Amino acid sequence: MSYSVSPIGFVRSCFKEKFAIPRQPQLAPAARGVLELVPPFDQGEAVQGLEQVSHVWLLFLFHQALEDKPRLKVRPPRLGGNQSVGVFSTRATHRPNGIGQSVVRLERVEQGKLWLSGIDLLDGTPVLDIKPYVPYADSVADAVNRIADSAPALIDVDWQPAALAQGQAHEQRLGEPLVALIEQCLAQDPRPAYQVPAPDRQYGARFWDVDVRWHYPQPGQIRVLEVVVAES
Ligand code: SAM
Repeated sequence: MSYSVSPIGFVRSCFKEKFAIPRQPQLAPAARGVLELVPPFDQGEAVQGLEQVSHVWLLFLFHQALEDKPRLKVRPPRLGGNQSVGVFSTRATHRPNGIGQSVVRLERVEQGKLWLSGIDLLDGTPVLDIKPYVPYADSVADAVNRIADSAPALIDVDWQPAALAQGQAHEQRLGEPLVALIEQCLAQDPRPAYQVPAPDRQYGARFWDVDVRWHYPQPGQIRVLEVVVAES
């Protein structure tokens, strides 16, 4: 038996590639984007009332991780990438039907557009449904998850002075909290846990229209080296 679903909209996100996106929403409050609704949901009626809601659940497709053959076990980065567990005990992107869910802050509602922050979604993500967050039902005070029992530990992020000046200039140009976005995302330490970062090894990721490069001068510390406009 199969059912078909179709997107009600697509996310225009600060994240242009998967690397360095936080592993869950809310970890980078400066991560912003717009959910652009498609017809007939772009008429305003479908979102009427949402201005009374601070957060929404988004149900979406991991469109850049879809696979034909379902995996039963996965190796979540959270467990260092070398321990495998049942797919249903994780929030891994490779999963049956490729469906993700994130609670995100709803900053503003416009006809056909929802302005979001705290997102963990790649640019172009197809969204299947939106539901209001209901605090009394969705927040479970005595919930336990022994695989992911707390937010990931943060590491220090500092800047080469020239890189910070570049970041601040692009922040002004974009009208987006770019410096905070970079700090919040890199503090999650996007590097795969199995990689020991040599100080001369550089890493990079794209946020909005800029490429950010960084290295690890010592374990547990990131230094931002450069923030430059990305080549298309
Ligand atoms: N909060 C969601 C959930 O629990 O279903 C997503 C969790 S998943 C572990 C988060 C990761 O999904 C991000 O770090 C990013 O690399 C990846 N991701 C985000 N949007 C994606 C997309 N459209 N296609 C493939 N991977 C995506």
